Amino acid sequence: MSDFPGALRPESRTVHPPLHEVTGSRPLGVPLHQSHVFAFEDSDALVSAFTGPDQAFVYNRFGNPTVRSLESAVAGLEGGVAGLATASGMGAINTVLLALLKSGDHVIAQQSLYGGTFAMLADLARRWGVEVTHVRGDDPAEVRAALRPTTRLLHLETISNPTTRVTDLPGLLAVAREAGVVGVVDNTFASPLLCRPIEHGADIVIHSATKYLGGHGDVLAGVAVFADAELHRTVWQYATELGASADPYAAWLTLRGMQTLGLRMRRHSETALDLAGRLAAHPAVTAVHYPGLPTHPDHELARRLLPEGHGGVLSFDLAGGREAARALTESVRLASLAPSLGGVHTLIIHPASTSHRQLDGDQLAAAGIGPGTVRLAVGIEHPEDLWTDLDQALAKL
Ligand code: PLP
Repeated sequence: MSDFPGALRPESRTVHPPLHEVTGSRPLGVPLHQSHVFAFEDSDALVSAFTGPDQAFVYNRFGNPTVRSLESAVAGLEGGVAGLATASGMGAINTVLLALLKSGDHVIAQQSLYGGTFAMLADLARRWGVEVTHVRGDDPAEVRAALRPTTRLLHLETISNPTTRVTDLPGLLAVAREAGVVGVVDNTFASPLLCRPIEHGADIVIHSATKYLGGHGDVLAGVAVFADAELHRTVWQYATELGASADPYAAWLTLRGMQTLGLRMRRHSETALDLAGRLAAHPAVTAVHYPGLPTHPDHELARRLLPEGHGGVLSFDLAGGREAARALTESVRLASLAPSLGGVHTLIIHPASTSHRQLDGDQLAAAGIGPGTVRLAVGIEHPEDLWTDLDQALAKL
C-alpha cells in the first residue's frame, strides 16, 4: 500500500495492516498462511494461476502454501511425486475415486475395507453405475480372476481393521500394474514410516491424516500421494471442483504433529507388541490379532512389508463374548471408550457394535470379528500403566 496516493484513513488501515516478510533469518516452524485468497499485480499471472497445481497460489481450493508443505512432506515420505491434502481421510478417498471413475467402470476392492470406504463404493455401485468386486486381499490369483476389460482401479489397505491382516501389496499391485489398473493403497494404519506402498507398486497412497500423521486427536485431515505427475494433475483438477481441500490450520496442525511421527510410531509399535504378548497369556483372552506376534497368520509377510514395526492397532477376543467386551470397554480407566486411532491417547472399542455394525453375522464371521472381539488403538502412555489398566478390567470379567 506504499504507493497509495495520500494517507489511508483508520478504517482502511485496519483492513490493510503492514505485512512483514521474513528477511535475514528464517522461521523454524512452518508458517501458517491462513489467507484463503492471494492477490496479484499482473492479470496474466492471475489467469494462469487457475491452470495447474504448479502455478502461483490464488485460492485455497486450488492450493495454499501451508497445505502445500503438508502435501510435499507426505509425498516425500511416501516416495511420491506430489500430494493432495484434503479435509479428511474420506475426502482424500472420495476425491480419488470420483476423479478417476465413471459409470460403467469396474473396481476391485478388499472385503475388509474401512467402513466409510466400503459404504462409498456401495453408493458408487448403487447410484452411479460403478461395478465393484470385493476380494480377500491375500491372493494375487483372486485379483487376476476378478479383472474385467472395464477394471479401472484396485483399492487396498496395508493393514486391515480390526483383525490387522497384512495385505500382500507387492503381489496384488503387480497384477494391477500388468493390467494397467490404478493401484490405490490406504496406508493409514502403517504410516509412511512403517510402509511405503509406492515402493511395492502403488500408484496412489491415501492417508487419513486424522490418525498417525496428525497424531494428537485434534485434527481431521487427509492426504493422497501420487507416484505419477499426470495422475496427480487429473485428481487435483477434480479436487478444485469438489471442494474437499484441507484447511491451512488443519494442515499446519498435521505438520506439527508429524514432527514426532518417528518417535510415536516406534512407541506405538513397541507398546502394542508388549500388550499383545501379555493379552495372549491372559486366561480371559482366547486370541490376539497383532502382526508382530509369531502366531499371526501374516507374521512372515509383515516382517517383509513392515520391518520397522507393526503400528498401534491390535484386537483380541474375549472368552465371555459380547457381555465381556462391554464390561471390559466400560471398566478401563486409562484407555478411553472411543472410535478412531493413531493418536497419543489409547482408545478401545467393540467393533461388532460400532465400526462394523453394518455387517451381518456371516460378514462379521468372514471378517474374523466375533461378539467378544475388542479393538485397542494403543497410544503413547507408559506400557506398564496401560497393562495395569487392562489387567484390572480383565480381572472384573
Ligand atoms: N481410512 C482408514 C483406514 C480409516 O481408519 C479411516 C477412519 O477411521 C479413514 C480412512 C477415514 O478417515 P477420516 O475419518 O479422516 O475421514
